[in-house]
Amino acid sequence: MGYELERDVAPGEVVFIDLKGNIFSRVLEKRQHRPCMFEWVYFASPESVIDQVPVYGARIGLGKQLAKIIKKQLKEKNIEADLVVPVPETSRIAAIALAEELGIPYREVLIKNRYIKRTFILDSQEKRQKAVNLKLSPVRSEIEGKRLILVDDSIVRGTTSKKIIDLVRQAGASKVYFVSTCPPIKHPCYYGIDFPNNRELIANGRDITEIEKELGADAVIYQDLEGLKSAIMESALKQGTNMRPCMACLDGEYPSDISAGARFANTRQADRVKTQNK
Ligand code: SF4
Repeated sequence: MGYELERDVAPGEVVFIDLKGNIFSRVLEKRQHRPCMFEWVYFASPESVIDQVPVYGARIGLGKQLAKIIKKQLKEKNIEADLVVPVPETSRIAAIALAEELGIPYREVLIKNRYIKRTFILDSQEKRQKAVNLKLSPVRSEIEGKRLILVDDSIVRGTTSKKIIDLVRQAGASKVYFVSTCPPIKHPCYYGIDFPNNRELIANGRDITEIEKELGADAVIYQDLEGLKSAIMESALKQGTNMRPCMACLDGEYPSDISAGARFANTRQADRVKTQNK
């Protein structure tokens, strides 16, 4: 919009600009800054820079970190792959870095219908399933007979991932290895991201074999916590920022008291069940 960046608004800070353009600001409550790790993994636009950490660079880092894990697993499980395929849009940057590191061709063979909303934000299972059906079209001529490493930014409920795996199998993929640039999401978020219920999270209470079975993948490979931390924090440390992102949905270490959030999530879940049963 043609504006210039002055500075970020600090956590707990209020900034007031009067009609003459005078600026007043005060930090009302001082707390440790714990931004959501999902900004770098999924939410933020790739050209953004958050807390001095470029989102694009962090996603490249996620791909490179994943490559280390995948190389090891490919060797251990004696797996070979023909193509690295991103699930559009967010995972593209990480998938490019991953393909470069693995020396496997990168192909965009899932074509996105740009008019469908992000599926995990839709408020019912039925809407999410319908949206996935309409969301992506496979390029059969490039997929047929190929062993694919499918890269997605994260696996939340697994609904989308399962559908995409079905889709590429129907398009003739001979093997599907599903890779997530984010570690397993095992705990609810009480800070506004809409996956509040433990039972809805595919990685909650399941081991990797059960997840592979549930999704119908030949293998599922996740980023690890260390890989995620270093992809985000490396740039922050270079800038001299000692920022620690929130990763509570991954490691269960919530940066604040969550009792009110937990009560709200339970009430909301009960309301959803009532509405579904009507
Ligand atoms: S719990 Fe997860 S989704 Fe929620 S703010 Fe923390 S990192 Fe983000």
